[in-house]
Amino acid sequence: MLLQEILEHNDQFVAKKEYVPYETTKMPQKRMVVVSCMDARLIELLPKALDIHNGDAKIIKNAGGTISHAFGSIMRSIVTSVYELNAEEIYIIGHHGCGMSQSNPQGTLQKMVDRGVTSPMVLSAIEYAGVDLHKWLFGFDDVVDSITANTELVRNHPLIPKDIPVHGLVIDPQTGKLDVIVDGYKDLARSVELEQSL
Ligand SMILES: [Zn+2]
Repeated sequence: MLLQEILEHNDQFVAKKEYVPYETTKMPQKRMVVVSCMDARLIELLPKALDIHNGDAKIIKNAGGTISHAFGSIMRSIVTSVYELNAEEIYIIGHHGCGMSQSNPQGTLQKMVDRGVTSPMVLSAIEYAGVDLHKWLFGFDDVVDSITANTELVRNHPLIPKDIPVHGLVIDPQTGKLDVIVDGYKDLARSVELEQSL
């Protein structure tokens, strides 16, 4: 059983004080917050590819690394990181080959029906009650568009300070190579120029 394995390992981990190399504080040393995808390939690769170590950053993850609601839990975590945990830069990092890219809500709903969890009738009733299940389950068409939109959402959020750079990047889940989609520093410089010209 997986839980049993985990607990046995955990006993050893604590007993042998293997936690010592990871001791740090809750304030992120690099003063950054990262929003990324829960993809299993990124568990170790993402921090290694960015040179992030325990204590360096706040890392928020979900399916697709998307911010689906301006006042949802991801945004709440970003706002908390900024105001309570000294984060001064925001990194939105999507990845190639993401499962949420061109995801298939209809297929997912069908799997729920096939497992006997629900029925087409119940799904219709939920939709009728105003919940768009297809929209809820859908990720995005294109990772670059998604990163750009999420970056804009955070940058223009009414509760995010205007002097915080919001970067958008895409990572290769195999090599860890990063490509910059949105350079938050350039966006900041542009908005300062714009203000001065007004
Ligand atoms: Zn993903």
